[in-house]
Amino acid sequence: MTLKYLLVLFVVAIGFWMVSTRSRKPRDRGDAARDRPSAAPPSKPQAMLRCAHCGLHLPASDVVTDGSLAYCSESHRRLGAGPAAGP
Ligand SMILES: [Zn+2]
Repeated sequence: MTLKYLLVLFVVAIGFWMVSTRSRKPRDRGDAARDRPSAAPPSKPQAMLRCAHCGLHLPASDVVTDGSLAYCSESHRRLGAGPAAGP
């Protein structure tokens, strides 16, 4: 009799643990996603990337990427990495 109760208690405890761990994860993600926009300033500072061909700096949203390299324009992407690519 006691063993049966213990087993039921064990199963219920496992069930509670699974529910609590499952419900906690999405809530944490939601909080993180909700906190980010409020914490970030209205004008988000954009990462500046350097054109691999001419060395021009421009915002990450304006670059033309080719693999790991960034270019200021499609024509420079076609020309490939120029002398400015080196350090
Ligand atoms: Zn360029």
